[in-house]
Amino acid sequence: MRQVDHFIVGDSPAPTRKHSIWNPSTGEVQAEVALGDAALLDKAVATAKEVQPAWASTNPQKRARVMFKFKELIEANMQSLAELLSSEHGKVVDDAKGDVQRGLEVIEYACGIPQILKGEYTQGAGPGIDVYSTRQPLGIGAGITPFNFPAMIPMWMFGMACAAGNAFILKPSERDPSVPMRLAELFVEAGAPEGLLQVLHGDKEMVDAIIDHPDIAAISFVGSSDIAQYIYSRGTANAKRVQAFGGAKNHGIVMPDADLDQVVNDLTGAAFGSAGERCMALPVVVPVGEDTANRLREKLIPAINALRVGVSNDPDAHYGPVVTPEHKARVEQWITTAEEEGSEIVIDGRGFTLQGHENGFFVGPTLIDGVTETMKSYQEEIFGPVLQIVRAKDFEDAVRLPSEHQYGNGVAIFTRNGHAAREFASRVQVGMVGVNVPIPVPVSYHSFGGWKRSGFGDIDQYGTEGLAFWTKNKKITQRWPDGGGDGSNAFIIPTMG
Ligand code: NAD
Repeated sequence: MRQVDHFIVGDSPAPTRKHSIWNPSTGEVQAEVALGDAALLDKAVATAKEVQPAWASTNPQKRARVMFKFKELIEANMQSLAELLSSEHGKVVDDAKGDVQRGLEVIEYACGIPQILKGEYTQGAGPGIDVYSTRQPLGIGAGITPFNFPAMIPMWMFGMACAAGNAFILKPSERDPSVPMRLAELFVEAGAPEGLLQVLHGDKEMVDAIIDHPDIAAISFVGSSDIAQYIYSRGTANAKRVQAFGGAKNHGIVMPDADLDQVVNDLTGAAFGSAGERCMALPVVVPVGEDTANRLREKLIPAINALRVGVSNDPDAHYGPVVTPEHKARVEQWITTAEEEGSEIVIDGRGFTLQGHENGFFVGPTLIDGVTETMKSYQEEIFGPVLQIVRAKDFEDAVRLPSEHQYGNGVAIFTRNGHAAREFASRVQVGMVGVNVPIPVPVSYHSFGGWKRSGFGDIDQYGTEGLAFWTKNKKITQRWPDGGGDGSNAFIIPTMG
């Protein structure tokens, strides 16, 4: 069976523990990944400490050349990366290409590191005094990433961190670790020094070792909220810089004047694409007013029934299986909970099997109406191909629902009314807002991050915020008095006492 080892300098130690990697389309175990421990982390950190100073003092233009080459290599390997990703995650190959592409865009941003790392300068801040500031790397950064974007999220992190002059230790999801490994190989092929980016696999044991390691300066985490909060609390208690992004339950508000055909088209992609396993999916639709709700429901039913579920390399499939058998059971249990709570299962995806792939982890598309805000199935993240309809009385109700929800990652409003859209965008308590855009993931030169239980910490991912996260700001105030005209240096360094 294929074995996935750590990506470190030198040989990986023989693993004492391993984790199975599924092929979600067939339901078979296709590989095993080694799970590392604190001793392995110590070794990797020692390597990173050796490599990082020389990389940090490599001029930014040379570092940028590595990023440019890395970008070219990713583009050249796009198809094989997407196929590998799709086979372990279960998302269809086109979606997997999107996963790689959105990470690649952050690498493109990082290619501009000489420009974006330029500091600030004030000449004559006082008599003969100039002040300048410069951003310096932190040293060693770590990233802990979820299963659902195994290419994009690692690249968000190590792309920015390494371009800024840091060494990086990546702990990807143990469920689909092969693409992060491939990216690390390509990074070295692009010219990154060996040991600058290391990939260590593991579970809680490795994560705890990272949080407690005294030589790791900063941690970026993306995953579920309870673990995000745990990592944020323990990491900051250890005096590290931490950003920790958590779960989501994004709402799509549909105003009475919205173009419903467009909304239905957007929702089928945003709620069911990637089997709903996206933190920026739209699993809750909030039509405003009963008439809007009824008209929308009528259009949604045939569109959802027309969705094609298939194996991840089926080019005609809208979406593939979910990631593991446990996750399939969990999503189906949420549908049952929703039913028990009194909502109406309009289209039921439980018990779905795909002919010829009866052991795959498929969940059929599900539509649930009559969902209310007191229901557990509304309050919690389902992370599957399930769309819930929550009917809002009026516009105020539509602003309040996402604002009061525990998660605040993304939200979208569909309307033709500019005033309503503007009011909504300014008042809603959510970090990323789409206006007639169902999945408002900001482009790479803006920054990404949710609010409330979707994001712990103050600094967002990538863009200018990502650069701020992976660097520290040094402020220098300088004075160069003249030598008094006689060639001697009249300036005497002041001493204490
Ligand atoms: P997860 O929280 O189970 O795992 C994330 C990472 O944490 C993995 O690397 C995993 O090995 C590690 N981990 C798991 N259990 C741990 C524990 N007890 N202690 C320490 N570390 C542990 O998340 P997942 O299932 O891989 O990913 C899906 C979740 O990620 C969803 O909640 C989704 O909304 C969220 N997500 C959020 C964003 C965002 O930007 N806010 C983006 C993508 C995914």
